[in-house]
Amino acid sequence: MILDDLFDRNVAWAQRKTRDDPTYFVRMAEQQSPNYMWIGCSDSRVTANDVLGLDPGEVFVQRNIANMVHTSDMNLLAVLEFAVETLQVRHVIVCGHYGCGGVRRALGDDRSALVDHWLQPLVMYYRKHQPLFAAISDERRRLDRMCELNVQMQFRRVAQTPIIEAAWARGQALHVHGWIYGVEDGLLRVIEPPIASLEERDALSTIDQCAIVPVEPASAIRRHAAEAFAAFPIDGAGSDPACDGCCG
Ligand code: ZN
Repeated sequence: MILDDLFDRNVAWAQRKTRDDPTYFVRMAEQQSPNYMWIGCSDSRVTANDVLGLDPGEVFVQRNIANMVHTSDMNLLAVLEFAVETLQVRHVIVCGHYGCGGVRRALGDDRSALVDHWLQPLVMYYRKHQPLFAAISDERRRLDRMCELNVQMQFRRVAQTPIIEAAWARGQALHVHGWIYGVEDGLLRVIEPPIASLEERDALSTIDQCAIVPVEPASAIRRHAAEAFAAFPIDGAGSDPACDGCCG
């Protein structure tokens, strides 16, 4: 049969899970109670469970090209509403990734496909801030910068949905996060500090202001290094506590 190998892999996986935890599927069948909702890119390299090291049942997922948040996207809004109001997730994570093909498309000139309608907000944003992007001579860095800004844009958009606003208005504990994933090193980085209230959302800089002030994405490695440095200050040390590993 076609794709027999995938069914064989499935059997092997199910047997492995059962061997490691005999009640695993019994628990899974009862209900799901994830703490996290993930809005990510459809890119096959960025699978939420793998990246987060979580098992099935632990993260509620919505993916599309370039992890966009369109306020008219009934799919995303229905998933978001169910996650926030029924599953009562505590965290909504918008996660983009470096080297995103959707973002790269938005930076080009080809507008011949349906996906270009999908990416139109990015296209318009890129055109609006063209002088700022043109000042970045390295093409790869220009794409990475736009990938970061895309996260900042979608982070703001999801925080502006009536679903999130209503949750905060009724006092629900809910954090919204803006992260980016490095396909080259497998590390997640924080783009935006999490927000958990209407006041924090309203205090955010605008997405146009974001174009002017670059972010400094921080992985857990960087955070751990900064914490270690703070705990054991070394006079005259040359290493940078904010370094992602290059200082050893
Ligand atoms: Zn992508």
